[in-house]
Amino acid sequence: MDGLKAEHDVAVCRDGTFDTALEGIREAVKRGFRVTTNTTLFEGANPEHVRSFFDEMMALGVEGMMVSPGYSYDKAPNQEKFLGRKNTIDLFTKILGNPKKSWHFNQSPLFLQFLQGKIEFECTPWGNPTYNVFGWQKPCYLLQEGYVSTFKQLIEETEWDKYGRASGNPKCADCMVHCGYEPSAADSTFSTLSGFAATVKATVGNS
Ligand code: SF4
Repeated sequence: MDGLKAEHDVAVCRDGTFDTALEGIREAVKRGFRVTTNTTLFEGANPEHVRSFFDEMMALGVEGMMVSPGYSYDKAPNQEKFLGRKNTIDLFTKILGNPKKSWHFNQSPLFLQFLQGKIEFECTPWGNPTYNVFGWQKPCYLLQEGYVSTFKQLIEETEWDKYGRASGNPKCADCMVHCGYEPSAADSTFSTLSGFAATVKATVGNS
């Protein structure tokens, strides 16, 4: 669900998809399924509309929401739709800076802090590996730099130091997508005392 009806239908280039998805969510919730949503935001997203969208999802009985900026695919025809790093932080600060207690996110509180520029992480490109009909995708869900047939090959043969912001790889420069940074946030929570304390603080503060 990429926003309220108007924004969602534009994002997926098809009228009526928001209403269809809404109907599906209502039915799934009614039948007792656990329902979560995933939302990708692009340049031009209206922070107030996104906040209203969160309210609407929670009112539907959704268990938790995931949210992420879109990745700047260099082959996409409309490059102006992608958020740079600064615009990502500005947008998410407006959306999440004063969060409502009623909002529940199905993601690490530290990732939400990262999106607001309150904390810095390096990417963990192997943290959410993608496996599909072609095999294991190198290096991450966003970049398609080949496939290998086993997880062992993915881990051992990928040149991981070529990826992430610190590597200087231009394809990673503006990326703040959950596939690489959510695992960094989760790792920080469980591997350092300061990360755990920051997570507790962010959870209590609901941001
Ligand atoms: S920074 Fe983004 S594009 Fe680059 S490896 Fe990490 S997740 Fe993939």
